[in-house]
Amino acid sequence: MENWDDLSQVQPDVYKMLKNSRLKNRIAHAYLFEGGKGTGKREASVLLAKSLFCENLSDTIIPCNSCHACRRIDSGNHPDVHLLEPDGLSLKKDQIQELQEEFSKKAVESSRKFYTIVHADKMTSQAANSLLKFLEEPHQETTAILITEQVQRILPTILSRCQVINFKPLSPGNFKNSLLNEGVTPQSASIISSLTQNLEEALELNSQEWFAQAQKIMVKLYEVLSSNSMKALLYLQEEWFSHFKEKEQIDRGLDLLYLIHKDLLYVQLDKRDQIVFKEIEKKLEHDALLISPKTLAGKMSMILDSKKRLMSNTNTQLLMEQLVLNLQEGSSFV
Ligand SMILES: [Zn+2]
Repeated sequence: MENWDDLSQVQPDVYKMLKNSRLKNRIAHAYLFEGGKGTGKREASVLLAKSLFCENLSDTIIPCNSCHACRRIDSGNHPDVHLLEPDGLSLKKDQIQELQEEFSKKAVESSRKFYTIVHADKMTSQAANSLLKFLEEPHQETTAILITEQVQRILPTILSRCQVINFKPLSPGNFKNSLLNEGVTPQSASIISSLTQNLEEALELNSQEWFAQAQKIMVKLYEVLSSNSMKALLYLQEEWFSHFKEKEQIDRGLDLLYLIHKDLLYVQLDKRDQIVFKEIEKKLEHDALLISPKTLAGKMSMILDSKKRLMSNTNTQLLMEQLVLNLQEGSSFV
């Protein structure tokens, strides 16, 4: 996230709020940025810092990203911009005190100072009390940004002194982009962003050998569905169940099967850019022609129905066999 435009894409509400405050020069003394991992909180704090310190700021307060100040903020070397992170498991009183000492000196470059506390929920109670005193006597032109993924762990006394800004979960498209930035392949990023909006869970799924294999097996199951029912049931017995053992795993498998059927829908709607299982695009195009939108909708609801029944049903084998037979029934390509 380099600029306000990027922030407006990822967090439109945060963008409006921060940009307006900055334009009107009404930046609060303390903000609490709260929201899930990977929602752009830290990047927004860097952007705000640059919009306060940039030497070539445009009229619309867009930082240049290339002046001395911008570059030093990027590299963490600006004398008036500080970042505090937990030292080990917690943020300690010493760290807050060091910051206070630093702030008691005159600002080096300008009259302004800016600090960000990452994982503010990890402050020890002594650290929180020190910070509280600091927040109670707001210094002129000092801006504090507290960042947390767990707002419920922030002391109410601190919370009440901050303007709380909520960072919402990313849209699937934006979330997919952040997965691509983390080095996830395009196909996996498409599939995973359709399954979760939690970055940690997404990266965990991406690293699982089980999940990589699960995708291949579900594609194969989808392919045998278009052959005869005996073959499909045999595939379930011989290969499928040895990979999808626990209910949670079967649930994941059903998610993938649902996504494959959703791809068929995207083909029918001519929204091919939305297809997640790109590797079988040709087959999807072929199959989408052979099935009516109504039958397809019926199949998708069968899969969702199986997902619902899965958690209460103890006989997962029977559940899957029924689903396979139902999905084959009424298909014109059986
Ligand atoms: Zn600049």
